[in-house]
Amino acid sequence: MNYIGGEWVEGSGGETFASVVPATGETIGEFPRSTAADVDRAVAAAKEAWRDWRLVPAPKRAEVLYRFAALIAEQKDDLADLMSREMGKVKLEAAGDVQEAIDMTLYMAGEGRRLFGHTTPSELPNKFQMSVRMPIGVVGVITPWNFPIAIPSWKIAPALVCGNTVVFKPAEDTPLLAQRFVELLEEAGLPAGVVNVVQGFGEEVGEALVSHPDVPVITFTGSRETGVRVTHAAAEQLKLVHLELGGKNAILVLDDADLDLAVEGIVWSAFGTSGQRCTAASRVIVHEQVYGELQERLVARAEGMRLGPGWEEETDLGPVINRASIEKIHSYTEIGKKEGATLLTGGEPAREGELEQGFYYRPTIFGDVEAGMRIAQEEIFGPTTALIPVKDFDEAIRAANGVEYGLSSAIFTQDVNRAFRAMRDLDTGITYVNAGTTGAEVHLPFGGTKHTGNGHREAGQAALDVFTEWKSLYIDYSGKLQRAQIDTEEHPAP
Ligand code: NAD
Repeated sequence: MNYIGGEWVEGSGGETFASVVPATGETIGEFPRSTAADVDRAVAAAKEAWRDWRLVPAPKRAEVLYRFAALIAEQKDDLADLMSREMGKVKLEAAGDVQEAIDMTLYMAGEGRRLFGHTTPSELPNKFQMSVRMPIGVVGVITPWNFPIAIPSWKIAPALVCGNTVVFKPAEDTPLLAQRFVELLEEAGLPAGVVNVVQGFGEEVGEALVSHPDVPVITFTGSRETGVRVTHAAAEQLKLVHLELGGKNAILVLDDADLDLAVEGIVWSAFGTSGQRCTAASRVIVHEQVYGELQERLVARAEGMRLGPGWEEETDLGPVINRASIEKIHSYTEIGKKEGATLLTGGEPAREGELEQGFYYRPTIFGDVEAGMRIAQEEIFGPTTALIPVKDFDEAIRAANGVEYGLSSAIFTQDVNRAFRAMRDLDTGITYVNAGTTGAEVHLPFGGTKHTGNGHREAGQAALDVFTEWKSLYIDYSGKLQRAQIDTEEHPAP
């Protein structure tokens, strides 16, 4: 269902689409394939609701978020279970996704009593001045399926506490989780119209939202390709566009690395969520002295992974999101082979037994990869990683930076000097030392350089910049007209 102006409603066109369980191919629900007319209605409701919501004191807006966080916490296990079904990730990681939404909602609720501005002295006597954050209006929220509860919270919690209203277009692969998310917001007492959901496809609902004249802000997470389309569609109306796009993240393993730790970090980062994280490590750049041993250990670990439905406790690797994704991942296996990389393990869909019905791909490792090969340059978004041997630290940094994306990076070393050089020289928005490429916490900025985005950041204080505009206020209590920058007898030029 769509949620517009506080009512759960069908789409106006009458058509629906199915949400499919990636582990089994079964349908888990039917949702409206909405149209631009539904977007118009949702935007009108959000615009109307904004008139009052912007005037609700921020600490009161935050109270809804505190209740929302408590409700998600109560439902954590059920939501994680549903996520392992609708999206496919293993339940432990699904619970982490839900926990991230709780953390983000609590962090942003805290902003209700902060939302700090600045006060600063005036150059003139008897004059006060400050700058404050102002809400902007209706925010269009467009999200991917890979963090189906966390990512909506990264956008909707700050949008709300800052005093905006929202039209939410969730990913078409995870509509049921989006519906649950909004049901909990409703239960938390959010006034009608403050958040609206329009289910459906990107080219229909997403584009209508991006080009709607009453939506001044678009916050989008998804692929680079779609991000470019969103930017074009928003350009004519000079919208504020916030983009969080793809990654081609590298883990550097130096000759002095703790290899046990590195193996753990690589397995978690390359194969967690079946490689479908924007921060997944799809490149491992390894000093030649430890290359042989690391390769051997990684292959053994990958071959020991148990594939299965995310809700089964023994599962290490769940399915990927859909059939098209299997095809895309497999096409990169073929590309890697043609480019001359060595396929060390995996490289095919897994179809034995109960896996037959679902969308499973074996954990795949390529060896002897050159930094310029397509499998080392393009985002695959599956359980595939590329081992790139290098001769020294400088070559490792060059290889790491030689891609169009700049989201996350990691280095395993015991050498503090090289660790600090890497922190300075790796051109990414996030760098980890002696940990994998995933594991962001909600109170630090999240996002990347280069084609991973357009300069904004999600999470932390940085997120507030997406959802507010600065207003500078000057209050003159001198009782006379004082003119800044103008020389007078009282204030002659120095
Ligand atoms: P996608 O770009 O295909 O879709 C993302 C969303 O955009 C979906 O809701 C989709 O319906 C919508 N959409 C599609 N076409 C549209 C259009 N023309 N106008 C407006 N909206 C449109 O991405 P995906 O496959 O859902 O997600 C995977 C991608 O997301 C990967 O590239 C991944 O790296 C990226 N991602 C980035 C981050 C980050 O924070 N940087 C986090 C998670 C995922």
